[in-house]
Amino acid sequence: MNDQKQLANFVQHMPKVELHLHIEGTLEPEMLLTFAQRNDIALPYKDIESTRAAYQFNDLQSFLDVYYLGTLVLREERDFYELAQAYLQRCKRLGIMHTEIFFDPQTHLSHGVALEVVIGGIHSALKEAECEWGISSAMILCFERDRDAESTVSLLHEALRIGDIVGIGLDSAELGNPPRKFQEVFQRAKTLGLHRVAHAGEEGPPEYIWEALDVLDVERIDHGVRCLEDPRLVQRLLRERIPLTVCPFSNVELKVFPNLKSHNMGNLLDAGLQVTINSDDPAYFGGYLNENIISTVNCLERDFNDVVLLQKNAIEASFCSRDEKIGMLARLERYIASFKFVI
Ligand SMILES: [Zn+2]
Repeated sequence: MNDQKQLANFVQHMPKVELHLHIEGTLEPEMLLTFAQRNDIALPYKDIESTRAAYQFNDLQSFLDVYYLGTLVLREERDFYELAQAYLQRCKRLGIMHTEIFFDPQTHLSHGVALEVVIGGIHSALKEAECEWGISSAMILCFERDRDAESTVSLLHEALRIGDIVGIGLDSAELGNPPRKFQEVFQRAKTLGLHRVAHAGEEGPPEYIWEALDVLDVERIDHGVRCLEDPRLVQRLLRERIPLTVCPFSNVELKVFPNLKSHNMGNLLDAGLQVTINSDDPAYFGGYLNENIISTVNCLERDFNDVVLLQKNAIEASFCSRDEKIGMLARLERYIASFKFVI
C-alpha cells in the first residue's frame, strides 16, 4: 500500500475534532432546493445543475453573495434541525468526535426568523447526535462584521436567555471591517464568562489579528494564515499559544492562496504554531474535514506525525473541559496504537 493511501485510511477513521464550521455553510445544493420548495422561496436557479454552477465564485465577497442567498431558504425550526442533523450524520461517518459549530443569527433575524427557531433547531440536532452517537458539540454565536455592531449586545443577551451557546465569534467580510468595531460585545461576553474567537488575517492584514487579540481578547484566531507576514505577531501567538483554525480548501477557493500546493500550512506547522485543520463552509468549498486534512497533508508532503499533531492541537484548542480533553487524547492514542501500518 502506498503512503498516501495509507495516510488517507489513517485519517478516515481517526477520532477528530472540528473547530471552524459554519452550519449555514453545510447547505448542500440538494438541500437548498428542497428547503426552497418546501418554504415556497423563489431562487434564481432552475435545477440542481444550475444550483451547483452557482456554488462557484472568485473571492470572499462573491462567495458571501451565494452563501447569503442560500440562507434565505432556512425559515423553520425543522430546516435548522435537518441542516445540523445532516452535518452530524457526516460527522459520524467522518469520525468527528467533537465539533464546535458557528451560526449567524443576524442573517436569519434579518429574514424574519426568530432566534428561538435558529438555536432550537440546531440544538435539537446536536443533543440527538450526542445521545445517539456520542458526538459532543458546542454552539458559537457569530456576529457578522459587515453589519452594524449596535444591536449585538442585546442579541447576545437574548441568545443567553434561550441558552446553549458557549461563546461568540466574528465572521463575514473582513476587509474594511476591523475587529475593534465589536469591542463592546466581546467585552460583555468576557464578563459573562463566554469563550471568544474571531476570523482575522484571512483576507485582512496581520493588524486585524493583533486587534482581535488586544481589543477583543479572543482565545482562538479563525484562519490567521497571514500572521506569517509579521514575525512579532508569530512570537506573540507562540508565547501565548493561541490556536489558529485554518481551513485550507476555503483559503484556496477564496483565492487567499492560488492552490493547495502554495498554502502556508507547512510553514505554520514548522513555526511551531498551534495550527488545526477545519472545513469552514464545506458544501461550498469542495470538501469536509477528512478531505481537507488528507489533501493538504499529501499536497504539502507532510506525514503521519503532522496529522497526529494537528489533531492533538485541535483537542487542546477546543472549549472542552480538561477531563474531556484527556478522554479525547486517550481515544486518539488508542486509535494510533491500533492502526495497522503496512510497510
Ligand atoms: Zn469561517
